[in-house]
Amino acid sequence: MAEITVNLPQGAYGIHIMPGAIQRIGQLMRNLGMQGMALVVSDENVGALYGAAVLHSLTECGCKAELICVPPGEGSKSLGVAMELYTKAVTMGLDRRSPVIALGGGVVGDLAGFVAATYLRGVPFIQIPTTLLAMVDSSVGGKVAVNHELGKNLIGAFYQPRLVVADLDVLSTLPERELIAGLAEVIKYGAIHDTDFFNYLNRNCAALMKKEEGVLTEVISRCCRSKAWVVEQDEKENNLRMILNFGHTIGHAIEAETDYTGYRHGEAVAVGMYAASLISRELGLCTSQTVEAMREIIQRFSLPLTARECSPERLMTFLKRDKKSVDNVVQWVLIQAPGEVVIERGVNEAVLRSVLEQIT
Ligand code: ADP
Ligand code: ZN
Repeated sequence: MAEITVNLPQGAYGIHIMPGAIQRIGQLMRNLGMQGMALVVSDENVGALYGAAVLHSLTECGCKAELICVPPGEGSKSLGVAMELYTKAVTMGLDRRSPVIALGGGVVGDLAGFVAATYLRGVPFIQIPTTLLAMVDSSVGGKVAVNHELGKNLIGAFYQPRLVVADLDVLSTLPERELIAGLAEVIKYGAIHDTDFFNYLNRNCAALMKKEEGVLTEVISRCCRSKAWVVEQDEKENNLRMILNFGHTIGHAIEAETDYTGYRHGEAVAVGMYAASLISRELGLCTSQTVEAMREIIQRFSLPLTARECSPERLMTFLKRDKKSVDNVVQWVLIQAPGEVVIERGVNEAVLRSVLEQIT
């Protein structure tokens, strides 16, 4: 079991990592002084598996809780589905002190967080992430959003949770592909600023794939600590937080090029990290050894290095529209060595083209 505190100017919150944590959600909430009502938002898969346990724990602590399940998948991150959740909140009489609880992966976390941030100008928000990706990444840091038909996450806010509860037991039902996709973000933390952790992952790959509890606890808590540290320095992504986008510039382009159906987010990020290392070598920022280290770790975790069905031309078009551009110049996170990254404004188009050819 581990507990991590995220300290931000508007208040601190805890991340509790332990097996069986969802059975204690009612108590953890009560410890924070939240009582009365709660709206639990989940998707149909996760709700069927864990909704009852969460409701039970809440009711046992005297909370009047209701569960609403949305269809699984990115399609639920819409203003239409958010509206259904607002309607539910109004009809059950959810007031300003009552939390919205997200029980699910990144999709549910982003959607429920967006509703928590906006309903009654903001009600308490609790995250119960159920995918590895959500545990190590999206549930910490306070980015919440829904999609617009012209782009992902275009409507959102920075809104921090009051509590994050990562229950390792729920990972037992997580499909293997989702686990592996989450591991791409785990590798990212090692690559951006923790050489020791990068080596630890290389040594503990088999244990992680088998979801061994000790290794999972270590990995999730190290990633949460890393993310908390970055977010504490730069909550609104003016500077340091950008390093979390390592692998994401090309990753996002691959996701968009394949209509968000070909690759899981983490898989696209894996290709993006490898591509970033190739760009870094072309620019003389790193040696072939670093490229090899990235290639090896990505392959060791059964993640992809290439996106063969993508065309370099179309990827290039998506890159030019990158949401994170400043004055139309893409901010690239490039790698010098495992554990060390740098931010570069713009990359020569010929270099980019040659790397895109190699990964497609
Ligand atoms: P991400 O965290 O990668 O954004 P999603 O929210 O899209 O993930 O969830 C990925 C898929 O995994 C969804 O179909 C979801 O219902 C399912 N899922 C999430 N958590 C679990 C779990 N603990 N057990 C089984 N299925 C899960
Ligand atoms: Zn990501």
